[in-house]
Amino acid sequence: MEPAKFIWMDGALVPWHEARVHVLTHGLHYGTGVLEGTRAYPTPDGPAIFRLDDHVARLLRSARIIGMPLPYSHADLRAASLELVAANGHRSCYLRHVAYYGYGAMGIDVRSCPVGVSIASWEWSAYLGEGTDNGIRLMVSSWRRNDPNVVPPAAKATGPYLNSVLARAEAAAAGYDEAVLLSPTGQISECSGENIFLVRDGELATPPASAGALEGITQDTVRRLATDLGLPVRTRTLVRSDLYTADEIFICGTAAEVIPVRSVDNREIGEPGPVTRKLQAAFADAVRGADPRYRAWLTVIRAS
Ligand code: PMP
Repeated sequence: MEPAKFIWMDGALVPWHEARVHVLTHGLHYGTGVLEGTRAYPTPDGPAIFRLDDHVARLLRSARIIGMPLPYSHADLRAASLELVAANGHRSCYLRHVAYYGYGAMGIDVRSCPVGVSIASWEWSAYLGEGTDNGIRLMVSSWRRNDPNVVPPAAKATGPYLNSVLARAEAAAAGYDEAVLLSPTGQISECSGENIFLVRDGELATPPASAGALEGITQDTVRRLATDLGLPVRTRTLVRSDLYTADEIFICGTAAEVIPVRSVDNREIGEPGPVTRKLQAAFADAVRGADPRYRAWLTVIRAS
């Protein structure tokens, strides 16, 4: 990762290498934090953040789920995100918002820990590696997605990502590119950092949040793009064998964007199919401001 100039930390822009926390930060010990990943793209009007308000709203929802009081409002975090991207002078970037219980007390009780909030931005290309936009190999993980009554997957929270880390490491060690996790009751949930879609007989399907899938903003974008392309989309329960019999599969997320899947558990799906290619192209146009129907999703950065 190439450092940028600044990180927004607790209300101020600080030089990248000075954005530090104490080793007794509560979130470091207990995973008590919430996070967001957002991207900015070059558009004809200059760099623009894609679906910024939706990402900030989800950060606030995640904090609400874990009961964390955020010291900044939606408007503050929105303004800080724009200020940071302008100050770093990015044409395109990934933004990472994180809010966490900080240095104050040790032990499980968070009540005397302050809440820290930071936003970092950097230039980040293909999340799963170069060439992955031509298709990846998936495996069904032996790890199950977090149970909603153990740690709620609806909160994009830091500690629960250990579940994703375990699944991703298992997949990498076995020679796969990414893992797909089943819910505790055995339905397809999502990948370690992406939602999943399959195509069968011309219809798209993606698992619901009730299967432990994050309410993905890219998932929502893809639903809208597909609908506008006249492709039927259903959010429905899927099981493992649905992946083996799909005509096409792709995964999607802010960092990953839209990535075709070539095989699942060594069952060949094949080359990226026409629906996946159409959606990849529609997504690339939407995020770069090339399709006027989706301009409202873009917040243009004004130079600082
Ligand atoms: N699921 C998980 C577990 C994720 O970490 C992400 C990335 N935020 C997604 C799905 C995709 O969500 P989004 O499209 O909002 O980035």
